[in-house]
Amino acid sequence: MNKKLILSVAVVTALSMVQGAFLSAASLGSLLFLCFFYTIFYTECPKQVWMFFVLGLFVALLNWYYSTPIIVVIFLVFTLIECTRVILMAILRYPDTIRDLKSLTADLEQRVETRTMELKETNEQLKKANDKLRELDKMKTSFVSQASHDLRTPLAAIKGSLDNLAIGVAGPLTDRQLRILDRATRSVDRLTNLVNELLDINRIESGRTVLELNPVLLHTIVERVMQEMKPAADQKNITLLLQETNSNKMILADPSKIERIVGELVNNAIKYTPDGGVVEIRLSGTDHQVTLSIKDSGIGMTKEECGRIWDRFYRTVASQHFAKGSGLGLSIAKELVEMHGGRIRVDSEQGKGSTFTITLPVREKGENHGGSNDCDCG
Ligand code: ADP
Repeated sequence: MNKKLILSVAVVTALSMVQGAFLSAASLGSLLFLCFFYTIFYTECPKQVWMFFVLGLFVALLNWYYSTPIIVVIFLVFTLIECTRVILMAILRYPDTIRDLKSLTADLEQRVETRTMELKETNEQLKKANDKLRELDKMKTSFVSQASHDLRTPLAAIKGSLDNLAIGVAGPLTDRQLRILDRATRSVDRLTNLVNELLDINRIESGRTVLELNPVLLHTIVERVMQEMKPAADQKNITLLLQETNSNKMILADPSKIERIVGELVNNAIKYTPDGGVVEIRLSGTDHQVTLSIKDSGIGMTKEECGRIWDRFYRTVASQHFAKGSGLGLSIAKELVEMHGGRIRVDSEQGKGSTFTITLPVREKGENHGGSNDCDCG
């Protein structure tokens, strides 16, 4: 508002100066200018526009009659009146404004208080739900643990009986009976494997897995695993290759756990590679770490699947059609690698194959652990 007034004064003053030189023409000009000016600035109040239009007309007539810049005086008087009005309005409205502000503040405080209460309640509910979930999770863990333990003994008995039947303890068997027995044995093996994996997961989850650290030569473990896996590879006509560079580095690790990890990865590589494929194991070492990568020419996986294979029970769509599995092995392997302070990652392309890489630190006894997994897939 003040800016408008200052601008008005400046414009009209300039106009009245011109007026000295061009009397009647300037009078007409000031009339038009006043109308234009107030139409722009007071459009929200048409009454005032008309008022200033009449005023402008009146001033123009006076100018024309007296040939003096009376417009300046009149305009200044009106400016003064307008300023006073604005100031008075502000002063008169002050108590109302303060009251409004106070009530707004009180309202705001009330709302904040209500929201805080609501948040507290929600928080309380979430805490209760969380406690309940923890309780349920504990129950689930102990149930799975108990059930797995209970299943292990009868499974071992069934397996023993099947083995006895197969070697002819109960008399000779026909080829057909042997084939049926073989199928039953493989199913029992799978079930035993699943039960063992569930027990392993349980042990890791509850922090009961302890590493028995010893100096380990990864090369020895890899060779042992390759020997164990050779029959499975041969059955599918898969070539198992080993390439080593500087692989004589000793690491401080739990040999049985490392064997488990390597076994899992080599087994997967053979399992998810079609007949006639190649599985290549590379072993290398530096002063600080040893790296083991297992590359296959198998079914591979998508980028999205690469990020999920570490989740328990997750299996890619292609792998479900390709071979049987539980979806537990990799999550166990990842946990075990991390317990050793190592990293595990996968690079894969769907239909072209996968490379799983483990890096394990060459550590002294008593050093801290800390590791992660990663992936790079297409
Ligand atoms: P599973 O018993 O199903 O093999 P894992 O935990 O070992 O369970 O693996 C999880 C999933 O990761 C597999 O079901 C499969 O979908 C995928 N996967 C693992 N290794 C490979 C591989 N070498 N090539 C393709 N997919 C693989």
